[in-house]
Amino acid sequence: MGNVLSVGEVLIDFTPYGISDKGDPLFEQNAGGAPANVAAMIAKLGGNAALAAKVGADAFGHSLIRTLQKAGVDASGIRVTEEANTTLAFVHLAGDGDRSFSFYRKPGADALLEEPDISDAMIASADIVHAGSVSMTKEPACGATLSALRRASKAGKVVSFDPNLRESLIEDGEKLLRDIRGILPSVTYLKVAEEELAWLMDEEDEEAACARLKEEYGVPVIVLTRGARGSAFYSDGRLAEVPGFQVKAVDTTGAGDAFWGAFLHQVAESGSAESVFGPGQLTGLLRFANAAGALAVTKRGGIPALPAREEIEKLVK
Ligand code: ADP
Repeated sequence: MGNVLSVGEVLIDFTPYGISDKGDPLFEQNAGGAPANVAAMIAKLGGNAALAAKVGADAFGHSLIRTLQKAGVDASGIRVTEEANTTLAFVHLAGDGDRSFSFYRKPGADALLEEPDISDAMIASADIVHAGSVSMTKEPACGATLSALRRASKAGKVVSFDPNLRESLIEDGEKLLRDIRGILPSVTYLKVAEEELAWLMDEEDEEAACARLKEEYGVPVIVLTRGARGSAFYSDGRLAEVPGFQVKAVDTTGAGDAFWGAFLHQVAESGSAESVFGPGQLTGLLRFANAAGALAVTKRGGIPALPAREEIEKLVK
């Protein structure tokens, strides 16, 4: 079975779940950060997943390491720094379960991830190297994360990338665009949301944007997420839709990560991580991933909301 190394952001998020007697919001504390969630989803499905990231030498950092270990993730690549506190994120939930974030970071420890923190040995022991959320991690973490993908590609590894952009957190959009476009030639599996695709290619027509991703940047597999509507993949000049599952949305935190973790796990499990799947297989993989994403929105939080294999299989049936 293939090993997945997930690189980048790790944090603790605080999600409101009610109001106290005094009228103050009550928060639930959860481990998160998109690459951490992806690793946890893979581990929950029985796969081998490691995380390369950085936390502070504080109670939150230790709790993150413990939680990820408990989730079955290889946490030996999580570095602990004295230079900053663990990143904390406060979630604002809208009525439909959509969320936005406020961050306590100046900067947080995960933004201090540096190139040497992701060793050649860590990359060598992986079959697939995944990264995401470069917009949320400032320098040096953004550069270190993208460089890990470049090194992985050079070492013949399969590279997966989820830009996971949050517009309000982008400081220098032009630099980020250059950085992301620069990494695309190294990427095998690209996950983008509809708005990200338009931003990334400066093109509203989705099929035209995908055509350019394929022709100009050579991305073999492009997966588009469509929230409750499900997902799509680009094949033979058009987008093939894979409808989503209807569920009651409680909290969309981590849906994209459950989706992508479930997808990557199947790619890794196939034992042929280098192979590029045909349309029939991709439809099957994305149906499974859609079910994982749908189930994740029915529960609060990121990692605690990740579904088990049996739940996914039941929904897919
Ligand atoms: P991201 O914006 O992080 O890419 P999405 O919010 O589109 O992720 O969610 C990822 C996937 O999870 C979707 O493609 C879909 O399969 C599933 N999903 C997300 N939200 C819902 C929802 N409300 N109902 C059903 N499925 C959902």
